Amino acid sequence: MKIIMLGAPGAGKGTQAKKIAAKYQIPHISTGDIFRANIKNGTELGKKAKTYMDQGLLVPDELVCDLVVDRVQQADCEKGYILDGFPRTIPQAESLDKALAALGESVDYAVNVEVPDENIVKRMGGRRACVGCGATYHMEFAPTKKEGICDTCGAELILRDDDKPETVQKRLGVYHDQTQPLIEYYHKKGILRDVDGTMDMEEVFQAIVKILGA
Ligand code: ADP
Ligand code: ADP
Ligand code: ZN
Repeated sequence: MKIIMLGAPGAGKGTQAKKIAAKYQIPHISTGDIFRANIKNGTELGKKAKTYMDQGLLVPDELVCDLVVDRVQQADCEKGYILDGFPRTIPQAESLDKALAALGESVDYAVNVEVPDENIVKRMGGRRACVGCGATYHMEFAPTKKEGICDTCGAELILRDDDKPETVQKRLGVYHDQTQPLIEYYHKKGILRDVDGTMDMEEVFQAIVKILGA
């Protein structure tokens, strides 16, 4: 099963993608996580991506597309995968479709997690990321057992630089301009499925499972 997660930054794509990946035993591919790992390791790609990410802008398509097209052809993707944070522009969606078509494949579902902008600001302000393993928490909605410490690996939690209020507003603008048109793109292909992302995490997950089938 090949699934794409659509939604604003902070809508809960990553939270749901991890749960879906575990339930359906398919890899969770997050382009944001890939870029952050590259930044941490000081790679050329990381250096290039960081200048855009820090400003709340999208990394240029040419730095993203080949990376994802290569990733989805690796052996662990044979039974499918869930893409989180990709595609984010129409050219990215077209390049994925083209690459899949060449393999005789196509995306099965584009799950659109709908959350209004007002809720997004609150979600992003409370989001905390683990510096060690990248796990995501929320101060109010998904707190750790011990404040400021990751439940999984014990490392410290931080507020991502790009989750600071000024950058969040910018990222929301970028989302509406560049990513939202994908909703229509996948609707036209007949594979768009909308989910109310304002419910609690478990309810959102159940709604997605209903779409994907047991
Ligand atoms: P969020 O989960 O809050 O939506 P991500 O972790 O997916 O954020 O992405 C963080 C940043 O990484 C984005 O703001 C953007 O700069 C960059 N990025 C991630 N995926 C893509 C992509 N597919 N195309 C362009 N830039 C991307
Ligand atoms: P995205 O990947 O779309 O940027 P995340 O999955 O990182 O979004 O979620 C953004 C923040 O909101 C995180 O702190 C997460 O713990 C929290 N969150 C995710 N889903 C929900 C939900 N249904 N209700 C409340 N908070 C949520
Ligand atoms: Zn951790």
